[in-house]
Amino acid sequence: MKDETDTLTQDIHQTAEKYSDQAFMYIEYPHKSFWSPDFSGEDAAAELLKMRDAPAPSMLYVHLPFCEKLCYFCTCHTEITGDYGRLEAYLPLLYREIDLYRRFFEENGIEPSFAEVHLGGGSPTMLREPEFDALVAKIDALVDIASLREFAIEIDPRFTDVERLRYYHGKGINRISLGVQEFEPRVQEAINRVQPRELIDPLLAPDVRGLFAHGVNFDVLCGLPHQTPESIRKTFDVIAEMAPDRICLNHLHYAPETARHQTLMVDGKQGRPTRLPDHAEKKAIFREAYKALSAHGYVRTGYDHFAKPGDGVARALSENKMKWNALGVTTGDYTNVLGVGPHSTSTLADAYYQNVYGTKAYADRIETGEFPVFRGTVLSRDDQIRREVIQKIRNFSKVSFADIESKYQINFHEYFSLEIELLGEMCRDGLVEVRTQGLEVTELGREFVLFVCSQFDAYRD
Ligand code: SF4
Repeated sequence: MKDETDTLTQDIHQTAEKYSDQAFMYIEYPHKSFWSPDFSGEDAAAELLKMRDAPAPSMLYVHLPFCEKLCYFCTCHTEITGDYGRLEAYLPLLYREIDLYRRFFEENGIEPSFAEVHLGGGSPTMLREPEFDALVAKIDALVDIASLREFAIEIDPRFTDVERLRYYHGKGINRISLGVQEFEPRVQEAINRVQPRELIDPLLAPDVRGLFAHGVNFDVLCGLPHQTPESIRKTFDVIAEMAPDRICLNHLHYAPETARHQTLMVDGKQGRPTRLPDHAEKKAIFREAYKALSAHGYVRTGYDHFAKPGDGVARALSENKMKWNALGVTTGDYTNVLGVGPHSTSTLADAYYQNVYGTKAYADRIETGEFPVFRGTVLSRDDQIRREVIQKIRNFSKVSFADIESKYQINFHEYFSLEIELLGEMCRDGLVEVRTQGLEVTELGREFVLFVCSQFDAYRD
C-alpha cells in the first residue's frame, strides 16, 4: 500500500501534465519584460532621491561578469575569458558607477544605511588579491564595510583554495555561497562543471568554515542532463554531511534561444547526446530533493529554498518577515537593493530599474556620467498591492485577506473578484484553498505555486 508521500508524488506527476513549465519566477513584479525602455538614468536618480525622505536599509550587489570556464547550464550574464586584462579593464568602469552613487548621495544629503554587500557574477573569485583589495576599498568608500551586518561572496570551488578563503575573511567577508549543482559524475561532465566532493571538503573544514560566521550557502540545480530522483537523493545525502546553512534548489532554466551554449548539454561531448528531464521528471527530481532535505532536518523557506531550522531565514519565515529577491530568500532586513555592474537590477521601495547588458554598452553609458540604466518602472498602487500578494503566496504559501485589506484599505474579495474566480480551477485541482480569512496553497500546490502567483499578475494574458 502506498504511503501519503508516494500518493503526493503521483499527484504531482499528474498535475505537471496540466500545469506546464511556463510561469514567471516572480523575482520582481511587474516582470522585467513589462518595464519601460524609456526609463532613464535621470528617472533612476529621481527615484533614488526618495531615499532622503524615506530612509531604509539597503543592500549593494556588485556584479563581476567574468568566468574562467563555461558551465553549459549557465544563464548568468558573464563572459568566459582567460584574459585577466579583461577584468582589469572592467574594474575602473565599475568604480565609476560606485562613485556615481557616492557622489549622488553626498550632493543630495542622503545618508544610505547599507546592511549588506553581495559580490556576485560571473565569478568574483577570478579577481586576484591586488584587484580585490582595490575593489573592497572602493566599496568601503560607499558603504562602510565595518558596520555591515553581512558581506557575502559567490565562490567557484574549482578555482578557490583555503588560503583564498582566509584572505576573504580578512577582508570582512562573513558569508560564502558555493555553486554545487550535483555530485553525480555523469551530470557534472554533461554540464562541464566537474567538482567532486574532495574539492569542496577542504573548503568546509571546521577551522575554515568557522571564519564565516553568517554561514554557508549552496546552489543546487534541478533538471540537469542525466539527473534522476536517485542521483539528487545521493547528492543531498552528501550535502547533508557538508551541512550548509542555506540551500537554493533552482530549476534549470533552459532557454537556448538566448543561451545557445545550453544545447551543448543536450548534444553531449564526444558525440554522446542526451536529453533533459521533462517537466514532470523535473518535478519528480525536485520532490525527491525535498524529501531528502526534510529527512535531513531542513526547513523549506519559500518555493525553492531550504535552511537549517536555526538559520536566520528560517526564523524570518516563522516571524513572517522573510523576503525574496534575485539573490534568493532574505531575512527581510533591507528594503533597497542597489545593483552595480552591467545588467544588474536595482530595487527601491516603489521602483525597479536595470543596467544595460554587456560590458561594451556598459562602458559607453558610464562615459556619459549618468546611471547606466536601460529600463525600469515605477510601481503603481495596484502593482504594489499585487506585488505584496504574490510575495506572500510565493514565500509563505498563504495570504491573509485582513492583512492586505488593512494595509491597502481595500476589500480583498471585491478588489480581486476576477482572480478569485480564476482560482476556482486550481481549487478544484487541489492546489489552493480559498477560505474566509485567506488563501492557502496546499502541499500539492506548493510545487506549482508560481501558477497560483500568476493569477494575481495583471500584466499576463
Ligand atoms: S561559474 Fe557561474 S556564472 Fe560562471 S559560467 Fe559557471 S554558472 Fe555561469
